[in-house]
Amino acid sequence: MPVVVMRKTCLLSCLLALLLPILSRQEEHSKLLLVSFDGFRWDYVNRVPTPNFRALMEEGVQVEKVENTYITKTFPNHYTLVTGLHAESHGVVANEMYDPVLNHSFSMEGPEIYDSRWWEEAVPLWVTTQKAGRRSGAAMWPGSDVAIGGTYPTRYMSYNASMPFEMRVEKLISWFSGANAIDFGVLYWEEPDESGHNLGPESSLMDVVIEDIDRKLGFLREKLKRAGLYDKINLIVTSDHGMTQVSHDKVIELDAYVSQDLYTWVDKSPVVGILPKKGKFDEVYSLLENANPNMVVYKREDIPDYFHYKHNVRIMPIIIEAKEGWTIVQNRTGSFMLGNHGYDNHLRSMHPVFLARGPSFRTGYTKATMRSVDLYPLMCSILGVQPLPNNGSLASVRDLLMETPTPRPTLPSVPREPQSAWVLGVLLGAVLVVGFLVTFVKQVTQRQLPPLPLTNREISQPLLQEELRL
Ligand SMILES: [Zn+2]
Repeated sequence: MPVVVMRKTCLLSCLLALLLPILSRQEEHSKLLLVSFDGFRWDYVNRVPTPNFRALMEEGVQVEKVENTYITKTFPNHYTLVTGLHAESHGVVANEMYDPVLNHSFSMEGPEIYDSRWWEEAVPLWVTTQKAGRRSGAAMWPGSDVAIGGTYPTRYMSYNASMPFEMRVEKLISWFSGANAIDFGVLYWEEPDESGHNLGPESSLMDVVIEDIDRKLGFLREKLKRAGLYDKINLIVTSDHGMTQVSHDKVIELDAYVSQDLYTWVDKSPVVGILPKKGKFDEVYSLLENANPNMVVYKREDIPDYFHYKHNVRIMPIIIEAKEGWTIVQNRTGSFMLGNHGYDNHLRSMHPVFLARGPSFRTGYTKATMRSVDLYPLMCSILGVQPLPNNGSLASVRDLLMETPTPRPTLPSVPREPQSAWVLGVLLGAVLVVGFLVTFVKQVTQRQLPPLPLTNREISQPLLQEELRL
């Protein structure tokens, strides 16, 4: 190969080696899909064959005990998973709420879920991901079809309980594929919560429901494989809470102790929010305080600190917590469930399942315990997104990860550079690198040339002098 061509080839290779890391930097971040099967208790995987859950355990990590946040209800815990905050800090303190400042009530079954003010005491991870210049997609996750702080997920679907799981999966996977693919996805499915309420978790009929969830997880795995995403995406499968058996024999009727005229019933069993009528606080509290040994009555300020459930006006002035398995009603006119959750988050029956696999996670690793607030900083680390202030700790869950990732924080407040500016920067850098390399190669090659004829002495003189000194 002629010397000139060789030099050009060498220059080009050097240039490519220098530029490739810069060009591929935008692809370095890992992708992440967070899946929640509502009410999937931690031990459901052990009661029937669950080959797809088992496969995730072998291919990735599992956590045996996940302490979720109080109260162990759907909306508070789903918002905790994507904010890393306890309910008192993110503001979605229950499925049914009253805000005395807004003077509005909230029910998870009402249109007020679309009033963003209920969600805006915190910022969910999909919004933070987008502010970091990346994309997110949400399939029915609580709060994900609300413009929180004016921002929806990049791709999302309005809540529709009748949309089959398989359709949600196919949509999400299409969002993870092709141009403008999302980086972070959340997927919600209503089961086995609904069946757990209706049948009771101890019913043998629940076996079929759990087997069906395993098949659904199998469908998701298969679709990810077919899309070529299975080994590229980090997949986390978890839940908001567990479930415990309740019974018609374990019912507390508040009408037996206090008149309905004295208070407003805000949140339902098993943790009941009581708003006494004006001037009736002391009377209501004293009537309830020692009324029944199967419930604990708290003034809001006396709720134990370990619940992290005190500092928010949406937490009612009096909270009644039923003991496990007990149901609180006003009277026996309503319908009864056979399973329920919402109880003390330290009860084993309230804990959710937790499994994860993918390029960021270790393989075949079992961890004894974590808190659900720790998931948020873990997800931020995987995504390379700077976490907002939260109640979690990355240090306590870092061992789930394959290796400590180099933090690549992307400041949310800094707007993304326009593409043209970035290209200009790369080109300018390339010109400088080429200039440097040309000078360098010229110097080296000139050292190897025979002495120049005297006619060129003026030019060659300094170089010759250098050589003489050596
Ligand atoms: Zn439920």
